Amino acid sequence: MKLIMLGAPGAGKGTQAKKIAAKYNIPHISTGDIFRANIKNGTELGKKAQSYMDQGLLVPDELVCDLVVDRIQQEDCRNGYVLDGFPRTIPQAESLTAAMEKLGTKIDYAINVEVPDENILKRMGGRRACLACGATYHVEFNAPKTADICDTCGAGLVLREDDKPETVQKRLDVYHAQTQPLIDYYTKAGVLAEVDGTQDMEDVFKAITDLLGE
Ligand code: ADP
Ligand code: ADP
Ligand code: ZN
Repeated sequence: MKLIMLGAPGAGKGTQAKKIAAKYNIPHISTGDIFRANIKNGTELGKKAQSYMDQGLLVPDELVCDLVVDRIQQEDCRNGYVLDGFPRTIPQAESLTAAMEKLGTKIDYAINVEVPDENILKRMGGRRACLACGATYHVEFNAPKTADICDTCGAGLVLREDDKPETVQKRLDVYHAQTQPLIDYYTKAGVLAEVDGTQDMEDVFKAITDLLGE
């Protein structure tokens, strides 16, 4: 099962992608997590990506596409994967389509998690991230057992630099300008599925599993 998660920043793509990955036993590939890991480890890629990310801008396509195309050819991706945060531009989508065509395969579904901008602002302010293991929480909707401590690995939780309100608005603008056109792209490709992302996390997941099957 080869899936793409579409939706605004904060729509719940990562939350749902992790649940999908666990249920269907496929890797969750988050380009944001890959960049954050590179920043943390001080790699060249991390250095290049950081200034774009901190400003709420997209990292240039040439730093993203090869990375993902390599990743989906690794052994653990043989039975599928769920891409979270990629593609985010039409050129990224075209590069993925071309690479998959070469490999003789295609995307099964691009799942659009639909959430209006007003809800997003509230979600992002309450998001807390574990930079050690990639887990995500919400102070109100998905609180950790102990405030500011990751349930999974015990590391401290942070409000991401790019989740501060001024940067969130910028990211939403970037989303509407550069990423939203992908809804049309994947509709034309015949693989778009829409889910109402304003529901509770469990209800969003149920809508997705109804689509994908048991
Ligand atoms: P969110 O989950 O809130 O949508 P991500 O973790 O997916 O955020 O991405 C954080 C940042 O990483 C983005 O704002 C962007 O700067 C960068 N990024 C992640 N994926 C991509 C991509 N496919 N293309 C360009 N930039 C990306
Ligand atoms: P994305 O990957 O699309 O940026 P996340 O999955 O990180 O979004 O979710 C953004 C924030 O909203 C997180 O704090 C998460 O816990 C919370 N969240 C996710 N889904 C829901 C939901 N259905 N209802 C309320 N809060 C949610
Ligand atoms: Zn953790």
